[in-house]
Amino acid sequence: MKIAVLPGDGIGTEIVAEAVKVLNALDLKLEMETALVGGAAYEAHGHPLPEATLKLAKEADAVLFGAVGDWKYDKLDRALRPEQAILGLRKNLGLFANLRPAICYEQLVGASSLKPELIAGLDILIIRELTGDIYFGQPRGRRIASDGLFPGTEEAFDTMRYSRPEIERIAHVAFQAARQRAKRVTSVDKANVLETFQFWKDVVTEVGQQYPDVALDHMYVDNAAMQLVRDPKKFDVVVTGNMFGDILSDEASMLTGSIGMLPSASLNASKQGLYEPSHGSAPDIAGKGIANPLATILSAAMMLRFSLNQEAAAERIEAAVKTVLAQGLRTADIFSPGTTRVSTFEMGAAVVRALSSY
Ligand code: NAD
Repeated sequence: MKIAVLPGDGIGTEIVAEAVKVLNALDLKLEMETALVGGAAYEAHGHPLPEATLKLAKEADAVLFGAVGDWKYDKLDRALRPEQAILGLRKNLGLFANLRPAICYEQLVGASSLKPELIAGLDILIIRELTGDIYFGQPRGRRIASDGLFPGTEEAFDTMRYSRPEIERIAHVAFQAARQRAKRVTSVDKANVLETFQFWKDVVTEVGQQYPDVALDHMYVDNAAMQLVRDPKKFDVVVTGNMFGDILSDEASMLTGSIGMLPSASLNASKQGLYEPSHGSAPDIAGKGIANPLATILSAAMMLRFSLNQEAAAERIEAAVKTVLAQGLRTADIFSPGTTRVSTFEMGAAVVRALSSY
């Protein structure tokens, strides 16, 4: 089982170190190799996704990714910005399905900005399509007015598009995931305004006919954004396109109180995957040893489950995380009076200790 470990920038290195510690504490034959990515790779090699890093990722069964980015790279050409590394990895590995669970842990009910009764027991899965939509459609660009009347006038444009196979494969991922859960899929679109999303809705409906045991409903994205904060527990699996998924998955992650708790998986057709926390590189707290490593540790658990076929080990990690929360250990982002504040390192060590009970 080969794992490419790509810590990246900011808190990436701190949180990935803790996840690696946890993986090493399992009795598994894991081969882990580390490489630079993002701003760190740009500094060392002039590119956020150097050839050697891409080769390592392609040859691995899974990629454990920290986070990339820093405001200091904002002025670089778009192609050289750290975030391009993620897009490059998604493209080169064919990662089309982004799975983001939003689970509310019993002990953290109070960390949410929503009323406890709205989120206690919350367990939803947002599935975002990653390869299509307005992020990749062509043509895209800028036009400078040439009529001379308004010199310098510009317009910018992007193209929204989805192909049938792209929608079909993400719909299958959603229906199959729902079969392991509460058997409900909500497909989110904007079919009332956008042709692309009327097509999306039609294709998801067709695929749904192959899953008569799963209930399918459709919701416009504006309503979905509202329902997620009004009554989030009404959802089980939510499937949507690249842009809506980008926004809704961040909204869903905050339902649970801390973005520092939420893992994610991006999978390709052969279950090779990239596993990363849902949050970014948090330059504001980097180097302080206070970042929450649990999202990354839980991402490592997803990696064991989805790409490495080690369900039992995944469950051990998840149980250990619940144990440390029950022990009252908290990093600063989830701290509340009456609990014990710990550092990134201490949280990782506590998870390793808790593993021995399972
Ligand atoms: P962010 O997720 O990095 O941080 C948002 C807020 O959440 C910050 O206040 C941060 O301190 C806090 N936070 C995030 N993770 C935390 C953790 N594990 N523990 C405790 N607190 C945590 O988002 P941002 O500030 O908008 O972006 C910062 C940089 O990260 C930017 O350069 C952005 O482009 C990049 N980014 C990268 C990814 C990625 O690598 N996948 C995703 C999002 C943003």
